[in-house]
Amino acid sequence: MDPQTKSQFIKDLPKVELHMHLEGSLEPELMIEIAKRNNVDIPFTSAEQIREASVFTSLQSFLDLYYLGHTVFKTRQDFYDLIWAYFKRVATGNLRHCEIFFEAQEHVNRGVKLEDIVLGLHDACVQAKKEFGITCGLILTLLRHFPPENMMELLKQAVPLKEYIVGIGMSSSEAGCPPSLYVDIFNFAREQGWHVTSHAGEIGPPEYVKDSIELLKIERCDHGIGARTRPDIVKLLAEKEIGVTMCPISNVLLKVTESIPYSPIRQYLDANVKMCFNSDDPSYFGSNYIDENYAAVEKEMGLSVREWVKIVQDAIDMSWAEDDVRGKLQEELDGVKAKYKVKELYGIE
Ligand SMILES: [Zn+2]
Repeated sequence: MDPQTKSQFIKDLPKVELHMHLEGSLEPELMIEIAKRNNVDIPFTSAEQIREASVFTSLQSFLDLYYLGHTVFKTRQDFYDLIWAYFKRVATGNLRHCEIFFEAQEHVNRGVKLEDIVLGLHDACVQAKKEFGITCGLILTLLRHFPPENMMELLKQAVPLKEYIVGIGMSSSEAGCPPSLYVDIFNFAREQGWHVTSHAGEIGPPEYVKDSIELLKIERCDHGIGARTRPDIVKLLAEKEIGVTMCPISNVLLKVTESIPYSPIRQYLDANVKMCFNSDDPSYFGSNYIDENYAAVEKEMGLSVREWVKIVQDAIDMSWAEDDVRGKLQEELDGVKAKYKVKELYGIE
């Protein structure tokens, strides 16, 4: 495929995003606007100042600014506006389905009602399906910098809102927070019928990936790149079909990997680990959303047409979408495959 056709082919692929933190899509302009209307003091008066502060030396340096951004949110409308801005932005690309982390724990601990958060987000999801044909699942995401008891309290509060929440995730810094601390939490989440995933092996050791699989029984692994030094754990990911949600631009900007080719993308592809590419916290990483992540991987690594088809197929297979949504995504992918004659030209079924 010539470079121009290939770039169009990658754009045309139906995107499925499974690792995007809602609060990480807060663009500086909206942070200023919501802070103003809610009378929240933040140490910035302009979007430019926030952009200037968005240069990070580590995951922790990012988290410090990121959690400051969380403090502006108070009302149901704020959450609607936040997720709506994401939908509007990604609708200009080719995002078809997403499952979004929302970090209610920070907000609820500040006194915001969980119901306001969930219903504000849900209203926008309904509208996005109508207006853009984008489907969205909401993942209530627990934060490791709070104690496990606080996570359990939040999960119990979330039970009556179960129908609006597709799964439970866990993020924030892994430092000093081994998966073994959260076994009861994940058992409880699974008993409620929620899907479960967790950040593991972003900065944490390879054992955190293994323990998240074996102790927490995660269905997907967010980042998971820490497993790269342990072929046995990479094999475990492949054998158990635990898909890895990779965030190529995030990993480079937070100095987790030296560059995109230095991430384990090639290693995991060769080991037949399921994986997909995602934007993580796009507004804090130079407004690089999912399309920009796909383009960056192609620019730096030049994956084959077969590998690109696999990435999107994996993303569909890894998603927790209902059967009808999944069927529609599959049809769209099959449509792109037919348009570019991948069977005739490359023997890709
Ligand atoms: Zn993340």
